[in-house]
Amino acid sequence: MSIKDISSEKLKKMISSLKEQGITNTSVLDIMSTIQRDIFIEPALRARAYDFDALPIGFNQTISSPYIVAKMSQLLIEADSMKNVLEIGTGCGYQACVLSKLFERVTTIERIEPLYLKTKNLLKSLNYKNILSIYGDGFDGYKLNGPYDAIIMTASPSIIPDKLISQLKPNGRMVLPLNVNGSQKLYRVKNTKKGIFKKEVDDVLFVPMLEGIV
Ligand code: SAH
Repeated sequence: MSIKDISSEKLKKMISSLKEQGITNTSVLDIMSTIQRDIFIEPALRARAYDFDALPIGFNQTISSPYIVAKMSQLLIEADSMKNVLEIGTGCGYQACVLSKLFERVTTIERIEPLYLKTKNLLKSLNYKNILSIYGDGFDGYKLNGPYDAIIMTASPSIIPDKLISQLKPNGRMVLPLNVNGSQKLYRVKNTKKGIFKKEVDDVLFVPMLEGIV
C-alpha cells in the first residue's frame, strides 16, 4: 500500500471514530474527511497524525486532537449565516483549514513569529485563499476584519478578553478553553441583546494563551 493509501485509510477511521465520539455535524465531518492531517505534522510524527492525541508542532505548541477540532467547529457553526471567523492561535494551521471550508473568510492570529511564517507559507502553498494570517497578540483581536460572526480561541486564557467580545457581531458566538482556577473548560459564549451567555461544554487541555508577541 502506498503512503497515500495508508493516510486515506487512517483518515476514514478517524472520521468513524469522530462519529462514535458524538460529532454529528455532517459539514464538519465531510470537510475533515477531505483534509489530510499529516501535511501539518513534522515528518517524524506523521504516523500519529490521525491518532486521538494532540501532537507537538514545535515551539512548545501542539496541534489540537481531531475530536477537539471537530467539536469546536461544530459548536461554532450551530447558528445560521456564519461568514466571518477569527481564530486566535494559528499553530500549524489545521483548524484554520477546516474553518476555511465552513466560513467565507478566516482571519487567524499567531504570536510566535517563526510559527506564523511557517504556517503562512504552508497555507499559501496549499492554496487556501480565504485565510488571512496575522502576526500579533490575539488578546487584541483584529478589528480591521471584524466584526466577526464567530471567534475561536485555540489557546487557553483565564479571562474572556473584552476586546474580543467587542469584535463579535450581535448574536455572534465564541468558543474558547477558559482556565477556571487551574482547570480548563470548553465554553461556548453567545453575544445577545440581553448580554453575554456562557455555557460550559467539556473538560479540555490547551496550551496557555500568552500575552505579547515573540
Ligand atoms: N489551532 C491550532 C492550535 C495551535 S496551539 C492548530 O490547529 O494547530 C495554540 C497556538 O496559540 C500556539 O501556536 C500559540 O503560540 C498560540 N497563542 C498563544 N497565545 C497567543 C496569543 N496571545 N495570540 C496569538 N496566538 C497565541
